[in-house]
Amino acid sequence: MRKLILLLVTLALVSTTSAGLVKPAKKSAAAKPAPRALAIVGATVVDVNGKSNIPDAVVIIEGDKIKAVGPRAKVRVPRGAEVIDARGKYLIPGLIDTHTHSAYDGKDSWPSTRFLASGITTVLDTGSLPPVYDLKRRIAIGELQGPRMLVCGPMISGEPVAFPMSETVKTPDEARRAVDARVAAGADLIKTHAQLAPDDLRAAIDEAHKKGLRTISHTGKTNALEAVLAGTNILTHLVGVPDAAVPDPEKIRSAHTTAFLGGWIASSLAWLQADPAKLDVLIREMVSRHVFYSPTLSIHHTIAFARDPDAFREAAAASNPPPLVLKDWEGLAKQPFDTAPFKKAWINMQQFVKRFYDAGGVLIVGTDTAAVYQAPGLSAHEEMRLMAELGVPTIEALKAGTINAARALGIERETGSIEAGKLADIVIIDADPLADINNTRKIARVIKAGIVYEKR
Ligand SMILES: [Zn+2]
Repeated sequence: MRKLILLLVTLALVSTTSAGLVKPAKKSAAAKPAPRALAIVGATVVDVNGKSNIPDAVVIIEGDKIKAVGPRAKVRVPRGAEVIDARGKYLIPGLIDTHTHSAYDGKDSWPSTRFLASGITTVLDTGSLPPVYDLKRRIAIGELQGPRMLVCGPMISGEPVAFPMSETVKTPDEARRAVDARVAAGADLIKTHAQLAPDDLRAAIDEAHKKGLRTISHTGKTNALEAVLAGTNILTHLVGVPDAAVPDPEKIRSAHTTAFLGGWIASSLAWLQADPAKLDVLIREMVSRHVFYSPTLSIHHTIAFARDPDAFREAAAASNPPPLVLKDWEGLAKQPFDTAPFKKAWINMQQFVKRFYDAGGVLIVGTDTAAVYQAPGLSAHEEMRLMAELGVPTIEALKAGTINAARALGIERETGSIEAGKLADIVIIDADPLADINNTRKIARVIKAGIVYEKR
């Protein structure tokens, strides 16, 4: 088992000199793709724009961009191009995880190559200590291998303090200053966290929008409906969501005010008494305001179903986490609590996500890696699987991890689909992802911005 996973997670830069694709230096792999074209020939291109797939396609990559995509009869392979024979394979856009914590301890980050090995070519880091800005920069210049990063910097939250990678603000003024500091440091979006009070959240969102940045909100002390009405762009998690739909919302609010974990549990169990009509009010507001939703099904599913010691050992063996992450996971695995109500609540969570989708809502993939059992990359595939399992069509689950996630982050002109002019972010897979979403895990090669990685 271990051996197989290691094979999967160890992707090597393709560096054959004859191909001339990349020439990694000994210490740094900062090599730019050579100008010589790369042609991927014979695969089926999966179209996430809802038109139609292209069987027996030719994709031409020049530098970091896609130059042309089309049927073999229409797209000419340039002379001297390096050719990847991909007959029988499928091409999907590089995947995007909109909820990660890559450098949350500031130093002991999980090797970013793990994302690439799973076909994740872009991530949004939704809360890490300030070294995350440097991690983003080092990947961007090719000093480190990893997915393209957008970052929020440390999360903005209120009292009580829950995580080292969050900053506590107590007034709207402090919230605005926290946003400004992140803008100055190079943040791409602003992450608001569970303990942020309503007035402070509204100020943070307003300030972010004034500075031209979008917001992603993990709600709690301010519930999801309040955050949506305040104008947040992305809602993440299934906590905070049922809070306004229960008979006594203030009781849950006070749980969030007392402690992070207590708030998480109270809010998770609130699904058991949430009024569907009130939840529909939230859905309508989200849809009409074009709020993207990342339910992070994977972590909620984990909490309900995977807390037994065997599951913990399995997750740890499969993903080989660094010591600090392992310590966190062990801590949670050792806290025994009755999972039965969480399993019941899970059904209501699934129904909500399906109702949101059916009402025209836009789902995106976000996983909360490296929170409990969320291994970089693997968790994104799990998130798409869980979307499909609750009744979202397979193509829509794939869109959630590609073009819809790109739209949520405002990078849809650069990535998210396999189209001429976009960055060459492509995953070559061995089987049809539309026949079975689990096939996205059968990765042959990963291409990020024209650089090819393959299994070693
Ligand atoms: Zn998170």
